[in-house]
Amino acid sequence: MADKPTDLTPEDLEAHRARVERQDRYLAQPDRCPYCGSSDLTGGSLTVDNGSCSQRIWCSDCDHSWYDCYALVGFTEV
Ligand SMILES: [Zn+2]
Repeated sequence: MADKPTDLTPEDLEAHRARVERQDRYLAQPDRCPYCGSSDLTGGSLTVDNGSCSQRIWCSDCDHSWYDCYALVGFTEV
């Protein structure tokens, strides 16, 4: 059964560990590419949907792209 933890290969575990490390690194430094560390990032338009928001980000140095994920945490009265 592919869904049992004991069936995970060492490569699966390494890939998961690398994803977790990229997430942690990006949350600590969101102005840096989580893959190569470059600050040469470009953001696309924001997509807002019922309390959440996403934005495609591209790294000009390593050509990786990803989606930044935002959640509504409150509002400011005007
Ligand atoms: Zn990069």
